[in-house]
Amino acid sequence: METIIPIRSRDRQAESDTAGMELKRMERIVDAAVLGGGIAGSCMAKALSDRGWETVLIDRKTFPRHKVCGEFLSPESRSTLQAFGLNDTVASLRPQRIARARLIFEHGGEIELPIPGEAWGLSRYAMDEALHLAAQRAGAHLHMATTVTQVELSGTGKGYRVRMRQGSEVSQIHARAVITAWGANGRVALGAERPKTSTNDAYIGVKSHYTGLTMEPVIEMYFFRGGYLGLCPIEDGKVNAAALLDRNEFAKAGKSVLSILEAAAERNRKLEQRLAAAVPIAGTQAAIAPVHLQRKPASWDMLPRIGDAAAMIAPLCGDGMSMALRSAALCAPLADDYLRGNLSLSDWERQFTGSIHREFAGPLRWGGFMQWLIRKPAIAQLLPGAARIAPVLANGIVRATRLKPYES
Ligand SMILES: Cc1cc2nc3c(=O)[nH]c(=O)nc-3n(C[C@H](O)[C@H](O)[C@H](O)COP(=O)(O)OP(=O)(O)OC[C@H]3O[C@@H](n4cnc5c(N)ncnc54)[C@H](O)[C@@H]3O)c2cc1C
Repeated sequence: METIIPIRSRDRQAESDTAGMELKRMERIVDAAVLGGGIAGSCMAKALSDRGWETVLIDRKTFPRHKVCGEFLSPESRSTLQAFGLNDTVASLRPQRIARARLIFEHGGEIELPIPGEAWGLSRYAMDEALHLAAQRAGAHLHMATTVTQVELSGTGKGYRVRMRQGSEVSQIHARAVITAWGANGRVALGAERPKTSTNDAYIGVKSHYTGLTMEPVIEMYFFRGGYLGLCPIEDGKVNAAALLDRNEFAKAGKSVLSILEAAAERNRKLEQRLAAAVPIAGTQAAIAPVHLQRKPASWDMLPRIGDAAAMIAPLCGDGMSMALRSAALCAPLADDYLRGNLSLSDWERQFTGSIHREFAGPLRWGGFMQWLIRKPAIAQLLPGAARIAPVLANGIVRATRLKPYES
């Protein structure tokens, strides 16, 4: 049953502070609020709804939307999708099968690596929308185009008050449990100041879909001074181009996503030739900045954090979505135990941070090493030769960046 809690006097003050905004006099109590409706958040919302908990999923964006991502879904993601009962949902979107990765360096050298298991190429536009629908079908309430502005402990000391804004309307919800899934750049007051991040290691991410390119079942990764660009075949014969670029190196590349992608292509002759016949699809461009790769994992900050909010592996590894899914899969049963009253908050924190450390520490370390390797032009020059001489070692390093298959 929906409970209406009167708004406290402090909130009345907030109401008068937000000039022109109407504070909705409705405060619902739900079991769980999931903040951020990317891959991690929607799977979490589905998992909790499947277990019978009244769950809201909140995202500031309107879906479907194009998102900066290589759109390469690693084989490890599949076992976790299966655990959420979502493998068939995603398969029905007709992703492209990907069997190999080809790395093409600035000097023209190439390495080709088999991908252990079957990977998929699928747009975030299609996938995130499908995951939302699946969460909704399971019973989750979706609040899209709604920005979470603050989370605080509720006055009763039990549960949390989540403040949000949709256009000019301000509302709040009371949730017994809150899970944050707001990605790497989620910025919301949690009572504590966010740690300041250095901008020295900051990158920009850009993406666009293209037609007119014939692709094998291969993800092509082009490296050059200041970054790299991946071409990934996705549904309906389209190709996604996503690049991660050093902000300083590309400061003069222009403001549009396509001009930045063109400037990137000019730095690798094979990429420039490859994209010569490609036609960008209007409306599919997106950009994100800053992207910080040196962030320390933080799976708990007053609240559980899942997905990129918890840890971000170098995008080069193509395992960010897999980690987002896995962190939700590790968190969901603990949230369930907490809501049942079988687990204290501190035990939830201890068990969740422990499992994230166990599963993610190795891949994050090796992912950081790979990112470091390709930033050194002198080393990148030697990589194709080294991979030919020691293919087992090259495959071993790639495997070390990946999560183990999911076991529930
Ligand atoms: C250039 C690049 C290439 C990549 N390529 C790949 C790849 O090929 N394969 C792969 O597996 N991974 C890749 N990744 C990583 C992958 O995109 C992320 O790991 C993944 O999207 C994380 O999912 P998430 O659900 O944690 O976060 P997100 O998908 O970022 O979702 C977070 C959501 O929270 C919402 N939000 C934020 N703040 C608020 C707020 N205050 N109120 C309400 N909503 C809020 C946002 O709108 C967003 O929808 C790449 C990343 C980059 C930058």
